[in-house]
Amino acid sequence: MRNSLPWPAPGPDDMNHPPHATLVPKAPPLMALQDIQVNFERPATTASALSWLRGRSPSPRPAPVRALDRVSLDVREGEIMGLVGESGCGKSTLGRVAVGLRAPTAGRRLLRGQDLDALPPGESRHQRLARQLQLQMVFQDPYASLNPRLRALDLVAEAPVAHGLVPRAGQAEFAGRLLERVGLSRAMLSRFAHQFSGGQRARIGIARALAVNPAFIVCDEAVAALDVSVQSQVLNLFLDLRDELRLSYLFISHNLAVVRHVADRVAVMYLGRIVESADAAALFRAPQHPYTRALLAEAPSLSVRKKRFVAIQGEIPSPLNPPTGCHFHPRCPLAEPRCREAAPPLVTVAPGHAVACHLVPAT
Ligand code: SF4
Repeated sequence: MRNSLPWPAPGPDDMNHPPHATLVPKAPPLMALQDIQVNFERPATTASALSWLRGRSPSPRPAPVRALDRVSLDVREGEIMGLVGESGCGKSTLGRVAVGLRAPTAGRRLLRGQDLDALPPGESRHQRLARQLQLQMVFQDPYASLNPRLRALDLVAEAPVAHGLVPRAGQAEFAGRLLERVGLSRAMLSRFAHQFSGGQRARIGIARALAVNPAFIVCDEAVAALDVSVQSQVLNLFLDLRDELRLSYLFISHNLAVVRHVADRVAVMYLGRIVESADAAALFRAPQHPYTRALLAEAPSLSVRKKRFVAIQGEIPSPLNPPTGCHFHPRCPLAEPRCREAAPPLVTVAPGHAVACHLVPAT
């Protein structure tokens, strides 16, 4: 089938590019999210309640929202999977589902092939907890995610001591080593969270995640609150830790330059669906989905043939009332009548490269 887009399909270079090791499935992925769906109800607004009280409208009802619409994603051992998209597209919800902070309405989470939400009968509470501890999250705001009344010692060592991973007598030595590993001094153990700078707090957040010996970490806008110079230091720390500890990250960011710097693969989300995923080099060299191309056009520091792209028109629609068919059709310059009627499936267009657009043919 012919490529109908006004830009080249993945070329011979992309097709013959030696597949990234993480794109050739040999073992089960470290973390697999399969057909994840998250629905919730947004409570009725004050305005609708007032309108009802005044007899001007029927009884207010909670509004159904589909935050994630059958999202599948996998992350291999030692891999950094970038997850990008505009605010409100469902990135953070997917990250919270991945680490178990939010239960999905439907779908499965598998860690090394084992379903995390249908654990084997007879598994002890201790085994279940040990599995859960392998999934950690580094939060967006280091100012809000650390209790200002706790010392660094408690912030880092509290969980491993509580879970019996570290004896209380050894917590200071343990926390001191972790602080040094993330680039801080063990002399800082007695400081309170509010006595650290933003970059130092980000490092404490990372040390706290590392303290329970995780395999998979969701980094949710983990450097968004930092100055650019501090950002690059913390990003390099993430990369060093990945290499040293074979960690896997789901790296959520709205900043494409940051994702380009760290990610092995990238998935692009739009209004609760993945619209494109590929090896990072292929995605930034030859993006295929009109939304991905528009996102790249808006990223000022990227040198991807900007003149050929068109910036995204309009606002992201409300998930309370998503567009029919392809969710992107009201903003897409290439939309056709069929785009309003049917949602395009995510199909493989080159090895390791998948796109959900009616105009991009499967291979
Ligand atoms: Fe645009 Fe969506 Fe239609 Fe593709 S399927 S051309 S992205 S509206």
